[in-house]
Amino acid sequence: MRIKERKKMYGRKIGCEQCGRKRGIIRRYGLHLCRQCFRDKAEELGFKKYD
Ligand SMILES: [Zn+2]
Repeated sequence: MRIKERKKMYGRKIGCEQCGRKRGIIRRYGLHLCRQCFRDKAEELGFKKYD
């Protein structure tokens, strides 16, 4: 997902920017993802896994 799209979604909903889930949201590294998506994204971006 591109940054532009991500910013647009922030104003509309509070859920995970990837799957829309609202539980277990993690706001870190400028991301806004649920735990599951965060883990995928973190690996993709080269971050450590979130346990
Ligand atoms: Zn998600």
